[in-house]
Amino acid sequence: MNPPVVLTIAGSDSGGGAGIQADLKTFAALGAFGTSVITAITAQNTLGVTAIHPVPAEIVAAQLDAVLSDLPVAAVKIGMISDPDVAKVIAERADALPNLVVDPVLVATAGSRLGEVAVVGVLSAYPCVLTPNRHEAGALLGRPVETAEEMISAAAELAALGPRAVVVTGSELALDVLHLDGETTLLPGEPVPTVNNHGSGCTFSSAIAVRLAAGDPVPAAVAAAKDYVRRGLRGGSTWKLGQGPGPLDH
Ligand code: PLP
Repeated sequence: MNPPVVLTIAGSDSGGGAGIQADLKTFAALGAFGTSVITAITAQNTLGVTAIHPVPAEIVAAQLDAVLSDLPVAAVKIGMISDPDVAKVIAERADALPNLVVDPVLVATAGSRLGEVAVVGVLSAYPCVLTPNRHEAGALLGRPVETAEEMISAAAELAALGPRAVVVTGSELALDVLHLDGETTLLPGEPVPTVNNHGSGCTFSSAIAVRLAAGDPVPAAVAAAKDYVRRGLRGGSTWKLGQGPGPLDH
């Protein structure tokens, strides 16, 4: 039997920790067949981002059309999108993107700006599972989101923009907040002591997409993704791959 086909629309991380590379590793580890549309090429390693080359919108469109016209894509994860023209290309094909998960990527772990609130805000209103971390939720709402209470109200406010569900992640608080169908569920976690967390947001959203493609309802997909990220953080916690904070394991 064929594996489920999952698509990532995201940026490349030459250091292999986040972006397209993390997404494809997650897809493979969880039994999906991964396809990819690259929106930007970043030059980066564990110390940070040194250059970003945006892929022209027409090449993003050609990649999307090539994949969607031939392969039975069952779920789609959207990561780094910095160009409004690329957002438009995606919007024009939104109806062909099933089980959509949007990770509103704004800033790299090491601090470089990867996305703009105006562009990411448009994508966040799609009927998707939206997976901002606390900082991304704060940027989208224009106010800080720091405490558990602020995460709960942020999830509800972001849900009002149009997504199917919102998961605000707060790894430092060992708490994620899921807002689905008007209800809030607190998902307590177990903090994993590690500096090697690069790519954990990408991995989380990709794992949700795989489980949605396999037919899980949103809460089960989110729980499975949370468990996969926790195992990856544990697995990579003693790694010293580069000179800076490294990635999680897959
Ligand atoms: N996408 C790309 C291309 C990146 O380089 C990064 C972070 O550096 C991200 C997404 C977001 O990474 P994370 O999963 O650590 O939030």
